[in-house]
Amino acid sequence: MERFMTTSGLKRRVLIVDDEIINRELLGAILSQNYDTAFAANGEEAMELLSDPEAYYSLILLDLMMPVMDGFEVIERCRADERLRRIPIIVMTSEKSAEVRSIRTGAADFITKPYDMPEVILARCERTIELSEDESIIRSTERDKISGLYTRDYFFAYLHRLIPRLDVPMDAVALNIDRFQLINEILGRQEGDRILKCAGDLISDMLTSSIGIACRGENDTFFVFIERRDDYLELTKQMQKKLDSMAGGRHLHLKAGVYSCEPGEGDPEIWFSRAKAACEGIRGSFGTYCARYSNELYERMVFYERLISDVNDAIENRDFVVYYQPKYNIQGERPKLVSAEALIRWNHPELGFISPGEFISLFEKNGLIRKIDYYVWREAATQIKRWRKLYGTEIPVSVNVSRVDIFDTGLESKLSDILDEFSLDPSLLMLEITETAYSGSADRLIEAVDNLREKGFRIEMDDFGTGYSSLNMLTSIPIDILKLDMQFIRRMLMDQKAYRLVEMMIDIAGFLDAAVVAEGVEKEEQLKALKKMGCDIVQGFYFSPPLPAERFGELIEKELKEREGSYADN
Ligand code: C2E
Ligand code: MG
Ligand code: MG
Repeated sequence: MERFMTTSGLKRRVLIVDDEIINRELLGAILSQNYDTAFAANGEEAMELLSDPEAYYSLILLDLMMPVMDGFEVIERCRADERLRRIPIIVMTSEKSAEVRSIRTGAADFITKPYDMPEVILARCERTIELSEDESIIRSTERDKISGLYTRDYFFAYLHRLIPRLDVPMDAVALNIDRFQLINEILGRQEGDRILKCAGDLISDMLTSSIGIACRGENDTFFVFIERRDDYLELTKQMQKKLDSMAGGRHLHLKAGVYSCEPGEGDPEIWFSRAKAACEGIRGSFGTYCARYSNELYERMVFYERLISDVNDAIENRDFVVYYQPKYNIQGERPKLVSAEALIRWNHPELGFISPGEFISLFEKNGLIRKIDYYVWREAATQIKRWRKLYGTEIPVSVNVSRVDIFDTGLESKLSDILDEFSLDPSLLMLEITETAYSGSADRLIEAVDNLREKGFRIEMDDFGTGYSSLNMLTSIPIDILKLDMQFIRRMLMDQKAYRLVEMMIDIAGFLDAAVVAEGVEKEEQLKALKKMGCDIVQGFYFSPPLPAERFGELIEKELKEREGSYADN
């Protein structure tokens, strides 16, 4: 937490750099009434303070003659730095010649020693800060062309000026249109831009009745700095309703993340990154419109950062372990082990066991999933080969293919290369693609699925029933197996409608000529009902949880024994 706690305060902050302690104290006394002050005894110390990306300085008062690193070098270094370049520098000197040189290198003004006229010094500081802020505001273009709100740069420059003058509690709010990418893809960029404009108008309207300013932060995220209120949930719902009707009755999902700014704490950029993090935390979750930044969220972000930075080591050290869950064909006299699903687990050396629910969607967001999936595919292939050697039988294994993998144009060749390397038939490595992947970008998906099927891979549609596939789309995507999502299985015996739904999904699968796998079967009654409905294959705790490869080997042995037994009986 401390990382964020450095006060930039509501006062502007001035850095005083002088090697003589008496000068530092004198200037400190003059300036501390109006400014937050920080001190450095030489150029090196000054550069160290300035290098903190979260400290925002409005002015540097710089002595030229100092040991270790002199003032000229500080000026040069600041001018060479993108971020520090904008901070005005006032040089303090008693030498006339140095004044000229320092102004030439880029100092904004100078103050001559000794410091006997405090009002003059204060006035010069004030004027220099004001000039530089005006300049930075003018430099950044003011309005975002698409939304009509401020641009991000202007917004933050304005905010830095505004804050010292505020005397009401304020909140940083990030607003995001969930899955906006789809709007662009399905309806086209022009329509996407129009919707962003509508959102901009709505935000402007809102700000006519509350104190605040707003900008388009990035793509489809808006930042609103607004007088504190407690009805953000209502507000977001109202805006979403209006936005829906402006967007021609489409159902958009507006999400808000809120961070309450504490006076004297942090930087506006950090306030909004927190508001944005709160907003991202509810991305994709239906029915949740609004979230506040919390310590818990902060800890989760730190946890996620950790996971991201540990992925490569984990692959190298083989901390990712693949478990196998059996699938049984239930249509015969006795359930027969027919295949397995490969499911990843992370055995983290310090954080312990981590389930995929905690990291898969995180890694889908940043593309790391491709590395992980590739690792799992190779592990699964190795395992199929190992079992073949051990038991003389081939167990097909389904691997999960994330929707991110679909966009990888090398997907088909990566998978074929694995088969070649381990001399496996493509029918042995089955591919589970979640239904949600189908609704996103159908064209590339159809192409990938076609190519893969041509090569002999079998495709399973995972979590069927949770996405938005239209029946029409189902007929145009060739699939071999439908996997019913476990939520339907869980509900089917509690509720007649859910029961009918499962029957209907099994009928749809029949119509598509696809086999059906029911996931998450835990109870015997579920199994019996599914068997009666004609469901072919069942996966779930009723038979077994996902197991480490060696334990799964025991199931294969058992299956082989039973097969022998039934041959002997016949
Ligand atoms: P999924 O592909 O739908 O996998 C089925 C999940 O249901 C697994 O959770 C499995 O352990 C769990 N499950 C199976 N039978 C039962 C049951 O009877 N009751 C209950 N309550 N749960 C059951 P798991 O292993 O935690 O994996 C969660 C999800 O993470 C998977 O859902 C899949 O979407 C993703 N995942 C796992 N491994 C990988 C991977 O290697 N790559 C990718 N892209 N995703 C993976
Ligand atoms: Mg799966
Ligand atoms: Mg599933």
